[in-house]
Amino acid sequence: MTNYDRDHTTFIDGVWETGLGGTVLEVADPSTGAVFARARTTSERQVECAAAAAARAFGPWARLSAGDRAGYLRGFARGLESRAAELEALQMVNSGKPRIEASIDLGDAIATFDYYADLIEERARSPHAETSLGGGSHRGRVRHEPIGPVGLIVPWNFPLVTSAWKIAPALAAGCTAVLKPSEATPLAELCYGDIAREIGLPAGVLNIVTGAAPVGKALTEARALRKISFTGSNAAGAKVMAAAATRGLPVSLELGGKSAIIVTEDADLDLAVECVAAGIFFNAGQVCSATSRLLVHEAVEAKLLEALVERVRGMAVGSPFAGRCDMGPLTTLAQLDKVNRYFAAADAGGCDCLAGGHRLDGPGYFAAPTIYRDVDVSSPIWTEEIFGPVLASRRFRNDDEAIALANASEFGLAGSIVAGDPARADRLAARMEAGHIWINTPQIVYPQSAWGGFKSSGIGRELGPWGLASYQGVKHITAAA
Ligand code: NAD
Repeated sequence: MTNYDRDHTTFIDGVWETGLGGTVLEVADPSTGAVFARARTTSERQVECAAAAAARAFGPWARLSAGDRAGYLRGFARGLESRAAELEALQMVNSGKPRIEASIDLGDAIATFDYYADLIEERARSPHAETSLGGGSHRGRVRHEPIGPVGLIVPWNFPLVTSAWKIAPALAAGCTAVLKPSEATPLAELCYGDIAREIGLPAGVLNIVTGAAPVGKALTEARALRKISFTGSNAAGAKVMAAAATRGLPVSLELGGKSAIIVTEDADLDLAVECVAAGIFFNAGQVCSATSRLLVHEAVEAKLLEALVERVRGMAVGSPFAGRCDMGPLTTLAQLDKVNRYFAAADAGGCDCLAGGHRLDGPGYFAAPTIYRDVDVSSPIWTEEIFGPVLASRRFRNDDEAIALANASEFGLAGSIVAGDPARADRLAARMEAGHIWINTPQIVYPQSAWGGFKSSGIGRELGPWGLASYQGVKHITAAA
């Protein structure tokens, strides 16, 4: 046993249970490939019990005052804060995140709980909006009610944040929940169960189950649940949607991306290097909104690429526990294998590789930060989500061409623009088909903003009031005047 081993991976009705799924997840440190923890999976029967617990807890939780619910949300925020050192270390050893990135993951999760606590208190001050019905004989008003117990399924790239983006608005809205973390990073989110006990969260309001796709599938089939909110790949998202469709259940889907970053000829090139590098090398490119396609104006292409190659040469790639670490390993061996397949495809397709293009020798799941130039628009390097530190670039001659290239993607999650002229940047932002755009800044996501994709990048929005609304049903009341 290591101190990370967990038998009690199943949190139902406020009580930790041994996972009875019969499988033990071996959790690896991606810097070395060594297994550092084992976690027992939840059985399908336990998933049903977790959903039933959430259903039982729903009524009393939904009736609790907004102020009381806000108090529990702030309790989660403070609980995360008090575990900061331990959670950051866990993110470093399990996800391979450099310390600064581990602390961003945690900080964003804390900010999300605090934000939704404030938002529901504010909403409680004016709960029922009047609707104007046109005539004088009736009055109308709208109530926003929690939709019920929900299933929350999250991926491995930002364990604490992707789960906080669901738990906080769901509980804020008055929903109860069953959370399923990813099998690759099953440990971090277990802290939410510990915190729930610590702050005296009513039993059943938040339940946690552990395991891979079969456990997720059992959650999508649990009859007690009234919605599934999923973040992950398009392939699994389609299965979640199909399972929900058999019962007409609503889903929110946060899926993949192949986002573009546009750099115009009047851009500050130092800032452009900053934004392009952060957009693809943060979290080793394992970011749904990674700007993995660079579109640069032909007048500055050579200069920008030269500066980017220089930046890559200076990057310290290694263990997050090393003295300096600018980029850690990929989180799983499967992900390294996948990225390697793209390296092979790029070689076979004759891509012009300016930097990287290979895995790093030695133990651990390291891929070299990579830049390809003049990538063909039909190449998988250009069209598919690689989820690794792989940048594909092309030049453009004018804004119409930049927009046409940026929008020629099945995805539409995010986009970035680095430009000197603010009016031009705004015009480009308006024309990009994506749910979140950054202008002249590396990616930063505020809890007040909206998160989600156009096209195949998903359905619905997280964060901000939109995130709260995704756990609420709208009830209209029409009454005689
Ligand atoms: P994944 O789809 O393999 O797994 C995501 C979660 O779904 C895991 O918990 C997994 O166990 C579960 N799952 C898998 N099959 C399932 C099924 N049939 N039914 C129910 N649950 C199932 O994704 P991943 O590899 O963990 O994450 C990477 C993907 O997530 C990338 O495509 C990335 O773009 C996407 N992502 C999107 C966002 C966003 O906000 N749009 C954020 C983070 C990650």
